[in-house]
Amino acid sequence: MLNEFVYCPRLAFLEWVEGEFAHNADTVEGSIRHASVDRVGFRNRPRRAERDETSGERAAFPLLQLRSVELSDPALGLVAKIDLVEIDGGRVQPVDLKKGKRPHVERGAYDPERVQVCAQGLLLRAHGYACDSGVLYFAGSNERVQVDFDDELVALTTAQLAELRAAARELTLPPPLDASPKCVRCSLAPICLPDETRFLCGSGQPPRRLLPADEHAYPLYVQQPGALVRKKDETLQVFDGDEKLGEARIREVSQLVLMGRVSATEAVYQELLQRGKPIVHLSSGGWLYGVTQGLPHANVRLRQEQVRAADDPARSLRIARAIVAAKLTNQRIFLRRNAPDGAVDDVLAGIRNAAGAAERATDVDVVRGHEGYGGRLYFSRLAALIRSNREFAERFEAEGRTRRPPRDPVNALLSFAYSALAREWTTVCLSVGFDPFLGFYHAPRYARPSLALDLMEAFRPLCADSAVIRAINNGEIGSADFVERMGSVNLTPAGRRKFLRSFEQRLGHEVTHPVFGYRISYRRVFEVECRLLARHLLGELATFRPMTTR
Ligand code: SF4
Repeated sequence: MLNEFVYCPRLAFLEWVEGEFAHNADTVEGSIRHASVDRVGFRNRPRRAERDETSGERAAFPLLQLRSVELSDPALGLVAKIDLVEIDGGRVQPVDLKKGKRPHVERGAYDPERVQVCAQGLLLRAHGYACDSGVLYFAGSNERVQVDFDDELVALTTAQLAELRAAARELTLPPPLDASPKCVRCSLAPICLPDETRFLCGSGQPPRRLLPADEHAYPLYVQQPGALVRKKDETLQVFDGDEKLGEARIREVSQLVLMGRVSATEAVYQELLQRGKPIVHLSSGGWLYGVTQGLPHANVRLRQEQVRAADDPARSLRIARAIVAAKLTNQRIFLRRNAPDGAVDDVLAGIRNAAGAAERATDVDVVRGHEGYGGRLYFSRLAALIRSNREFAERFEAEGRTRRPPRDPVNALLSFAYSALAREWTTVCLSVGFDPFLGFYHAPRYARPSLALDLMEAFRPLCADSAVIRAINNGEIGSADFVERMGSVNLTPAGRRKFLRSFEQRLGHEVTHPVFGYRISYRRVFEVECRLLARHLLGELATFRPMTTR
């Protein structure tokens, strides 16, 4: 961690204090290279006899190498796992394995690596060994760089150690680096959001687009009754009895969604949980039963702050106002952009006024009132966007928005889309470290993912309603995809399958972020929003404003 702290104090804090970790190409390659030294063991390497300088005699002694040596020292406050300790006669040296090539810099290596190997040397000294130097072995160029533990390096190492401990004690996230090239190679950039944070704090510098390694991973839905998901090598395979229905590469799966009577083998659970990919359990109708994930996120501080903010009416109100104003703004823009000329003009001003009033409201019930009023105006004109299915449009116009049960195909689609959106947001909240059941606008209620419902508000029109209207207008969904029973209308399994395809396409759709200016998929926007809310709650960002389109 000392290495990371010298590289970037924020990186060390995120990993060490907030429990964040993410792989990128560099870290994956690093773990592969490390595999050979991560096994505890030793070996004697025979060496050519060397001449003793004083006696002139040749004395052969082997070079003893100890792999993966764990040492700690309370006085130094250090724990380390040393890749290799070489004992060469009277000399003891720590060897730190690096995956890349030796950098051609003045001291033979950069400070983070030099400090790290020096800290290992200090530990060896504390255990009674004479240790004046260490080695950095660069596997990429197969070169060893000797690092002398001179006074200057020892002073730098102990000073950095003290600073790291102080940062962790103060529990204050250090600021991001300023437009640093280090961020481009940093695996935590998509979590840290260095440029976005600086931009929102007023830097004026447009953020760079630093993407996560698994940007193109998607949920794998399985809804064939009786199907079984198995793991084979690097793939997930779906079987119905002996018949293979399909397969997907694990690295391209962001989460496994099991709908209804579908199961998965133990190997699938183990593999996905180890990789931090959740398994989501839904009823066959799309109702969220639960999420299987690894251990809860280590960022306890975030959950503590979430509870504090949820208990504070003023803080909750500020977030609720921003959420509802963004939702109404996006509803208005969605209508304006997609309706035929003149079809929705009479409600646009009303929705805009409701958004403005929600933003100024001094009570959360008043916010709800403005949301309800604006929402009624919005749904009263939503049918105008349906161009290719008069029957669907007329039935929705007659029914209005109906939920339990939905009484027409458009309402059935909207309800299904909102539950899919809530499921998506629930997993995002969990992955960022929030409790998805504790919200700021939606009051806590048994089994209701209130925070997920809060955060999805602004995206109902942009992702759910948009996917519904598009699926109808493109003819992907028609009357044959619904069943009607006792006044309730629901999607058939085939209809659900078709709609989920449209919905996932919508989440993968890239838009230009209205604030950050780069292209970004909605799925990634969700994570960014969730992280920005976390930064707001933890005090790094003064405000939280959900995304609104232009
Ligand atoms: S992205 Fe940049 S600022 Fe953020 S942790 Fe990495 S190196 Fe530090």
